[in-house]
Amino acid sequence: MMRPVIALAPRAEARPDAALAQAVDLAREVVLEVADASEVGEHLGARGEGERVVTHLFECTSAGYPGWRWSVTLTRAKRGKGATVNEVVLLPGEDAIVAPSWVPYKERIQPGDLSPGDLLPVEDEDVRLVPTYLVGDDPLDSDARAQVRRVAEDLGLGRTRTLSREGIDMAAERWYDGVGGPEAPLAKSAPDRCTTCAFLVRISGSLSEMFGVCANGNANDDGRIVSFDHGCGAHSEVKLARRNRPQPLPDHVYDSLSEEDDLESF
Ligand code: SF4
Repeated sequence: MMRPVIALAPRAEARPDAALAQAVDLAREVVLEVADASEVGEHLGARGEGERVVTHLFECTSAGYPGWRWSVTLTRAKRGKGATVNEVVLLPGEDAIVAPSWVPYKERIQPGDLSPGDLLPVEDEDVRLVPTYLVGDDPLDSDARAQVRRVAEDLGLGRTRTLSREGIDMAAERWYDGVGGPEAPLAKSAPDRCTTCAFLVRISGSLSEMFGVCANGNANDDGRIVSFDHGCGAHSEVKLARRNRPQPLPDHVYDSLSEEDDLESF
């Protein structure tokens, strides 16, 4: 008996091969070779993967895999009638619970993760860095490298590499979007901006056009890079409204305590 076949999310080029799409029983048998019958549910449909390649999907009823589907891919030779099994796997559907995508450890590291003694070398091709000076035409000529390094040190260049334009832009973006930027809650309710604050210490280089360092020991941002349009309630020019100022204490009407009274009481 011909069985109705549900076509699953057809891809542009993938019209299911009719003979393979009808091979639902074969596909189920294949699944039952790797799974218990209690773990295999309804046939969810057939999807064309390419020329004479069709994937059948069955609901997975195992309690630990809600939303997962048994997937059986079948193929057949040109002008051949018999189907061949390509693979059978358990795949997550849209509602399946799956582990989050793996992120390389270098992308997971956050400021503050480095402990004393930890080493975090940068890669040779790190886009944030560029050579401060070139070390000679022949990279293998150690004499030339040493000479160039010596001259560079004499000239005060010192460092082998410095921040690239990209590295500077990345730092600026990170700082501006962070707790020292204008969108921080502290800045949004601040009476004035860092740019007019006496505690703002200027830095040098291209980042100095937007950022400085807060040097107010009473401020949350003490020692931190802040953008000029950041701000906080510890701004140097902040004045309390008259009604918020502490009230001066009145003088004593009669001072009943004296040094002699204190001594006599012992
Ligand atoms: S005290 Fe506040 S306003 Fe002044 S520089 Fe520091 S963060 Fe900016």
